[in-house]
Formats: sequence, C-alpha cells, structure tokens
Amino acid sequence: MSRAFVPAARSSVGPLGRAAVFLDRDGTLNEEVGHIAHSCALRLLPDAATGVRLLNRAGFAMVVTTNQSGIGRGLLTEAMLAPVQETLLALLAADGAHLDALYYCPHHPDAGCLCRKPRPDMLHAAAADRGISLQHSYVIGDTMSDFEFGWSAGCHTVLVRTGKGQETAQDLDGSVRWPDAVCATLTEAAEWVVAHRDTQAPASVIGLPPRAEPPP
Ligand SMILES: [Mg+2]
Ligand SMILES: [Zn+2]
Repeated sequence: MSRAFVPAARSSVGPLGRAAVFLDRDGTLNEEVGHIAHSCALRLLPDAATGVRLLNRAGFAMVVTTNQSGIGRGLLTEAMLAPVQETLLALLAADGAHLDALYYCPHHPDAGCLCRKPRPDMLHAAAADRGISLQHSYVIGDTMSDFEFGWSAGCHTVLVRTGKGQETAQDLDGSVRWPDAVCATLTEAAEWVVAHRDTQAPASVIGLPPRAEPPP
C-alpha cells in the first residue's frame, strides 16, 4: 500500500467527481537531486509555487504522488521523509500555494509492490479517498513513468522539461503515445491545463495491472 501524507488543515474530502492535478515531486516541484533525506536539500523550482497557485485558483484538488524508494533502499526512513514533506508544503504555502495531499511509495524498485509508479495504485487510492474523477484529472511529471502512471488510470498527462524532462522529451521521439502537452515549466503546464480542461475528451486507459484490493 502507498502511504498518504495529508496536511491537517485540508484533509476534508471534496465533492464527488472533482478534477485533480497529480504532481510528481522530484524534478517537477523541486530540483532533481536524487534521494532527499533532509529538508535542507529540498529546493523548489523557481516557478513551482506559481504553477500550483494557478491550479488552486482553477479549483483542482492538488495531490503529489511520488516514488520514494530511498526508504526501501535504506537511505532514509519514513520519519525522515515527514519533515521533508512538511518543508515542501511550507515553502509552497509561503508563496500562497496549497497541496491537498501527498502520496508516496516507500518501497524498493525490486520489492514488487503494487504502489510504485507507473502502477496506478496511488491514483486509485487518492480518487477513493478524496472523491476524484480520474478521467477529468491530469498527471504532470518529468519522466516516462509519470505518463504511464497517468495513462494506466485514464488521466491526461503533461510533461515538464524540468528535472529529467529534457531527456524524456528526446526519448519521446520514437514513442507511440505522447503526453497531451510538453511544457517548459510547471507554470506553463498549469496554464495549459487551465486552458484545456473543458475541451478534452476523457483519456483512454491503457493496460497496467489495476490496484490490488486492500486486505479486509
Ligand atoms: Mg520526477
Ligand atoms: Zn510501493
């Protein structure tokens, strides 16, 4: 199971069928510097808060979904991740931007868990927890795994060229399926989402294993 980290003040479930924007963390909101074990290594990308603020104003639920395999690799603990997540929330809040929840997979890539992106577990968990309509939602990220994650649950997808995004854009050249948009920064991505939200047909789902039923 993925773990949810929900800021206390904004933990209420939204109206059924609300659209969300699912943001990758590293390389999308903050600088890609490998596994972040301490808050001091977390640096927001310059326009991250502006992008989140635009999407807040447009009424989207804002959910971070992130693979934190550093935990499974023994490079940090969940107790160490918590203050990093708090710092991310605080840095954004200082600039008037709000996140509704953060979901993370703490497992090692070889652990065979069902919650590591690109498997859709975190999207389904957030949708169930918060009444989100995945068909009307967007995944924004900097790697191919982020799009596969979005596609696997029927979300629209946007590539940002920050983090590993430049490299990912080059890799897309021979690709069969592309994200709905390729944007320079999170602000551009947010502007694109706001401009296109009512003009797009629901995304189609591609096959990745669905979320396993939670144990009773
Ligand atoms: Mg990333
Ligand atoms: Zn996992």
